[in-house]
Amino acid sequence: MSPRPFQPGDKLVLATHNKGKYRENAALLAPFRLEVLSAGDLGLPEPEETGSTFQENAVLKARAACEATGLPAIADDSGLEVPALNGQPGIYTARWAGPGRDFFVAMKRVHEELGDNLDRRGFFCCNLSVAWPDGATASYEGRVEGTLVWPIRGERGFGFDPMFQPQGFDITFGEMDPDKKERMSHRARAFAQLAEALLEKA
Ligand code: IMP
Repeated sequence: MSPRPFQPGDKLVLATHNKGKYRENAALLAPFRLEVLSAGDLGLPEPEETGSTFQENAVLKARAACEATGLPAIADDSGLEVPALNGQPGIYTARWAGPGRDFFVAMKRVHEELGDNLDRRGFFCCNLSVAWPDGATASYEGRVEGTLVWPIRGERGFGFDPMFQPQGFDITFGEMDPDKKERMSHRARAFAQLAEALLEKA
């Protein structure tokens, strides 16, 4: 089944309970004049992320929100891949923050596991998947390369942002103006493909 483009005024659900992701995805969607509802505000349960790739998890979350509401849903599965840690934490990025979702703990763990490894590269990855009530799905992926710094810097953004210095910059995502991050992030790159395929500016 082919994906269904959205029209201005269409309702859809952003299937995330993560406030940082919601804020960034809602800002990216804003110019398209859709009616965007949040899975968190609707009190939808968070499905277990049992997939083995970003795409599988994003589709699983989009489908769960779509089935619960009868509306098309967009879900974001994202994380940090570190080549020197064999791609970890990857799809387990949120879990490295522990039950308290403490990202200082998660960043410290990455820092400690890297030890004195000279390869400090990190890749933020984002899969945005859409699920429609008739069973169709579509997926789009974006990546951005950076260097993992320690000590962490900046209080803007969320998650691993204070540890991630994007290639070509001397500031971290945690120090960067949010509008600027929104234009160059892994999420923005995945979103650009989604917009090209499915969205019309009003
Ligand atoms: P999940 O997609 O809900 O499994 O969570 C992915 C985790 O990756 C988030 O909780 C963040 O810690 C991290 N992450 C994803 N995107 C970003 C980003 O743009 N900045 C910082 N951390 C991110």
